[in-house]
Parts: sequence; structure tokens; C-alpha cells
Amino acid sequence: MGANERIDWTARASGLAPDGRAVIDGRRIDAADGQVFDKHSPIDGRRLGAVARGQAADIDAAVRSARAAFDDGRWSSKAPAARKKILQRFAEKILAAKDELALLETLDMGKPIQYALSVDVPAAARTIGWYAEAIDKVYDEIAPTAANALALITREPMGVVGVIVPWNYPMIMAAWKLGPALATGNSVVLKPSEKSPYTALRLAELAVEAGIPPGVFNVVPGYGHEAGEALALHMEVDAIGFTGSTRTGRRMLEYAGRSNLKRVYNELGGKSAFLVFPDFADVERAAKTVAGSIFFNQGESCNAPSRVLVHASIADQFVDVVRAEVPQYQPADPLDPATVMGALVDGTQLKTVLGYIEAGQSEGARLVAGGRQARAETGGCYVEPTVFDGVLNGMTIAREEIFGPVLSIIRFETEAEAIALANANAYGLQASVWSDNVNRAHRVARALRAGTVHVNQYDEDDITVPFGGYKQSGNGRDKSLHALDKYTELKTTWLRIDPA
Ligand code: NAD
Repeated sequence: MGANERIDWTARASGLAPDGRAVIDGRRIDAADGQVFDKHSPIDGRRLGAVARGQAADIDAAVRSARAAFDDGRWSSKAPAARKKILQRFAEKILAAKDELALLETLDMGKPIQYALSVDVPAAARTIGWYAEAIDKVYDEIAPTAANALALITREPMGVVGVIVPWNYPMIMAAWKLGPALATGNSVVLKPSEKSPYTALRLAELAVEAGIPPGVFNVVPGYGHEAGEALALHMEVDAIGFTGSTRTGRRMLEYAGRSNLKRVYNELGGKSAFLVFPDFADVERAAKTVAGSIFFNQGESCNAPSRVLVHASIADQFVDVVRAEVPQYQPADPLDPATVMGALVDGTQLKTVLGYIEAGQSEGARLVAGGRQARAETGGCYVEPTVFDGVLNGMTIAREEIFGPVLSIIRFETEAEAIALANANAYGLQASVWSDNVNRAHRVARALRAGTVHVNQYDEDDITVPFGGYKQSGNGRDKSLHALDKYTELKTTWLRIDPA
């Protein structure tokens, strides 16, 4: 942590008065009807401030602003080189505001400050910077057609993109949509989660400071069933980039069906399987990796490896190592730079996670670590890192996404059984295979129905590769050049070439 260790984040937090007003047309603005909701920190329950409670009228104002900006070409028709420079400046501004953004993210949703600083802010900046760089590296095409004709295949921005994001990585999720949508010339209206609105609002201000014209990137905070629904139903919104639960993803498709059939890109939940075969020699590394990954971000990661499938012959050893890892992930004050596990996002999430732990016990899984609420005296929302052994794939804790630091360990006997168990789940976001047998590793990786499969590791990630799910984990892909396709229409233009 170096220099960060010297910062007293608690002192800084006490002096912070975050601005919860919307950003529409480049300006801070209250909700049209003046309504607000109170935002509390899950760290200690303290009130952070009032946030504008956006409704249909506010969404409409933001969409009109975005539409006007799109139609007059202030961004969409800007030369790619100019857009690139501005987006690069936006990325620089995000990095320059690192401390402030990280502190807001930590206070808002409870993640450890060290990760907000080392993961969330740099990843958001890198995403914007990477798409800025991509702007002039993607070419249009000419199709091979008749000799007297020319068919140009060009990409055009869609228009107004609605972005709706969750609370677990508020800035990164926003950047994954903003990067490709803005790079390709669209205007954006973003609705952050009501549980973590502050960093998105600051991003909109930084965007204007960087030179993104007012109206091109608007942020309206509010509840899902109010602001979110209004955005997804709006007739002037051409596409929705959504990240969130599968339940809300279904709604996105319904809203599109009930309105203008806008494109819907859903990035949804997960129940990622982590398969450990007996021919993987370093059982300890596999077990330590799973602990580090399931407890990272308090388990509030869509791709958390929440379902371990381990061969019966090495299961006891595996469980022992995981159990020995648990103490180092005990939740602590997220503002302390040494903390590795922080608070769950709010009391509702805490209740949900504790409810799943109860379900695991009542359905017969064996609790081998954790299982209780922690640090209740702080007024915050903490839960112990929790491990269940003897889990069956049909149990609630193995089927459903818990979105908390709860690991389910399932034992298997054969490769075919492991593959079948891994795939017998509604989700298909991520998976990992641990085997020193190269044939088995490839065979199993191919058989797994998941958007990303890791072999013998879990941490590799990069903006250059697509991220998204099979099955009920979604239908889109964030990141990489493929994401540019989501926010562009393909146009074919035929030209006749007369003979001389
Ligand atoms: P959520 O679906 O409750 O909310 C996500 C967003 O949708 C929020 O902004 C919310 O206000 C809005 N929303 C809720 N109801 C709505 C409605 N009726 N109409 C319109 N908008 C509505 O999800 P969450 O609890 O914020 O986030 C957790 C979920 O996100 C988990 O399932 C997780 O796996 C998923 N997630 C997926 C990815 C991915 O890339 N696949 C990444 C991060 C999180």
C-alpha cells in the first residue's frame, strides 16, 4: 500500500459531503419534484447524504438532453481523433481523482479502501483509456460483391444508450458500458444503483471537465422500479446496457418488448463452478485461490467461484486448506488500508446472505467455517467468511447466487459427473478447471457452458478479453473490441460502378 497507508481515511470520510444530485446536460440538478432518498454507509450505518430520487420526468429530461446532443453531432460527428483525445483526458481525470473516488466507493458499498484504490479506480480509468485508443483502430469493411458494385459495411452509433448498473463494482460496471458506447459516438443516460450512486455522479462531472460535451453523458440516480424502469421503457432510448440480477434482466427484455424493441444487453448473475481434479498436484494453491476469490469483494462478485467441485480423494485436504485460510479474511473496517474483507452493501443483503446460510444448514450441508453476522456493534453490515462442505448440487446454496462470502464444496467421483454437475445450473458466467493433465484440462474446458473458463488459475483478467455469460448469465459481452459491436448499428451501402 505504501503511501496510502499514511492516509487517515476515517478522518477524510468524516469531512466528506457527497453531492447526490443528478447530472443532466452537464449540470448538477435536483429531481424535478424535489424528492430525495437518504443514503447510508454499510460500514457503520451513518448517513452519507441525500440523493435525488429520479423519476420518469428526470429520465425524460436526461434522454432529451442525450438525444439533442446526439442529433446535433456535438459528439457523434466529432472526428475520431478528437473523441479519442477527450476520452483519454477523461481517463486521466479519473486517475487524478483516485483518492476521492475510492473513498466514495468504499463508503457507499463497503469494499476495502485498498481494493477501491488498487482495483476499482485504475480499472475504470484503464477501460475508458483503452476504448479511447480503440477508436481509430477499428475499420469499416468492403464486401466482395459483383465487379460493377461496391458494398460498404460501416458502423454507426446507435443513438442514446441507457446504462443500468449494480452496486458491487459501481465504477467498473459503468466504465465497461461507457467506454465502448462513448467511443463509438453514442450519448448515454446512466442510472446507477440506488445502493451506490456517488461515484457515477462524480464520473459525469469529470467527463464534462475532460471536454465531453454536456448532454453526452447524463446520470440520473433513483430506484430501479422508478428511474430504471422509466429509462428501459423510454421510446427514445435505442439500447440498454444492463448489468444486474437475472430477475431484473428478464424485466429489461419485457420493457423492450413493451416499448420500442430497443437492443437489450444483459450481463447477469453467476454461480461459477471451480473443478479440482485429483491429477492437479498443488491442491494447496487451488484451495488458497478459491478462498481468495470467493471472499474478494465480500463475495459480491458475479464471477465469484461459489461452487467448488472437488474430487472425493483430495476433498478433505482441500477443505482443510480452505478452512485454514478463513481467519485472514475476517471482516474489518473497510477504511483501514490493511482490511481485506469489508461490509456487505446493506442490511437487506446481510439478511439475504444470513438466510442462505440458514438454508444451507437446514438442508443438511456441513458448516465448516463462519456462518454468523460479524461486527454488529459497529452498526455496519458484516458477515463472517463462510464455508460449507458436503453440499449437494441441488441444495439452495448450490443452485442460487448468494452474492456473499459463502463457499459451497461439493464432492465428485468421475470427470463426467463433474462436468454434469458444473453445467447443471441456470447460470453460465465463469468456471475453472484444475488439472495437470493437458488433455483433461482442454476437454473439460470445452465441455463447460460458461463465457470464461480459467485453467489452473482464477485471477487472470484483462480489458482485451470479452466478459459475459452463457445461459441465464446474460446475452452480451462487456470488454474487448467485441463490445463495440453492441453500441453500433451495421449499415450496408451499395454503390454502382459504371464501366468506362
Ligand atoms: P439488481 O438487478 O437488483 O439491480 C441492478 C440495477 O437494476 C440497479 O441499478 C437497480 O436499481 C436496477 N433495477 C432494479 N429493478 C429494476 C427494475 N424493475 N427496472 C429497472 N431497473 C431496475 O442487481 P444488484 O443487486 O444491483 O446487483 C447484483 C447482481 O448483478 C448479481 O446478480 C450479480 O451477479 C450481477 N452482476 C453481474 C455482472 C456481469 O458482468 N455479469 C457484473 C456485476 C454484477
